[in-house]
Amino acid sequence: MPESGTAPRKVALAACAGYGPGLDEALRALLAHLGGIGAFVRPGQSVLVKPNLLTDKEPERAVTTHPAVVRALVRLVRQAGGKPLVADSPNSVAKLTKVWEASGFRRMCAEEDVPLLNLEQAGSVAFEKDGCRFSIARPVLDADVIINVPKVKTHVLMTLTAAVKNMYGAVPGYQKTQLHRDHPTVAAFGRLLAAVYRTARPHLSIADGIRGMSGDGPSAGEPVQLGFLAASADAVALDLTLCRILRIEPSAVAYLAVLTDGRLDDPVEIAGETVARVAPASFRTPGAVLPRLIPSAVVRLIRPLVWIRPAFSDRCVGCGRCVRACPAQALRLPAQAPGGANDRPEERRGRVRPELAASACIGCCCCHEVCPENAVSMRPSPLLSIMRRGKPL
Ligand code: SF4
Ligand code: SF4
Repeated sequence: MPESGTAPRKVALAACAGYGPGLDEALRALLAHLGGIGAFVRPGQSVLVKPNLLTDKEPERAVTTHPAVVRALVRLVRQAGGKPLVADSPNSVAKLTKVWEASGFRRMCAEEDVPLLNLEQAGSVAFEKDGCRFSIARPVLDADVIINVPKVKTHVLMTLTAAVKNMYGAVPGYQKTQLHRDHPTVAAFGRLLAAVYRTARPHLSIADGIRGMSGDGPSAGEPVQLGFLAASADAVALDLTLCRILRIEPSAVAYLAVLTDGRLDDPVEIAGETVARVAPASFRTPGAVLPRLIPSAVVRLIRPLVWIRPAFSDRCVGCGRCVRACPAQALRLPAQAPGGANDRPEERRGRVRPELAASACIGCCCCHEVCPENAVSMRPSPLLSIMRRGKPL
């Protein structure tokens, strides 16, 4: 595979039922298939651990990497003589301190005495790669070793978010809104994610698939018990394996097609558990994904009729996060919202909801991603609904 170079295309799988007793042993057994933690961490090396801290949700919601997985990893890194730090830069309009608190990372890092870093405020270096311009947070570039710890989740725009997409968190959060504007289509955003991954490539990725997310992820889907951990030095091979486990068509994951030059079926060596043994009996993929297998010339012709756009439910409390997150400025809250700005959220629920300027919407799903109330669902256009009924796109 072109992106892997000489890196091993080996993916390790381990069954793990929960985040309590047994997790440490499962992680150790998982990494043993890749040569153990010592194959990645040498004494004295700085090790940046990059979880998915998307927003301020509790670990049970399966929106963020569970802190117990990172705790177990931090201990292994220390046993190998490494110096761990935990860092992320969420694409969230929630206050980062709230994200750290709700996700359990502030407490876990304090208990383990490991630094917790906001990548947004740590300086960055600008890059231009594969036609994309973006910055990478300096601590990611300075670390001797990067260990990427994604959550296994569906994604309404990319279908899957796991190892490759988690490295998008290496881009300072304040840039992400502009990047969505600069890369408004699924294909363009997939190319951006691939370019970021090529620039900030992790040495090891460990996917938290113990409790994942199905349906309309990455924040509004259903938490689902999956019961496995997966790891690889090759994040692309890891994501391809997750597609097999979850029965997701890899071509529906835009960045995988870019990173494999379309060779999505190249073999991957699996160690430990088998794909069949960890695959869930059923798994729901997002309801509204844009077509990716249609030739681009045809897509250009039908684009005005093929879109996904947000719809807002009565769960809305008028917090305005979606309005602030929208890169296209396609949302506004009514100036004269019923009730008052000083009402408590529960009193505002169902009395206000954002208004959408449909022609401005680029279907980026940022509003869906940041809503704390799961009040946003992404809806396909009538033509897209018909196309999806015909065959998986
Ligand atoms: S849809 Fe969600 S994010 Fe937007 S205003 Fe309502 S509650 Fe807030
Ligand atoms: S309304 Fe939502 S989907 Fe549309 S551009 Fe704004 S954030 Fe993206």
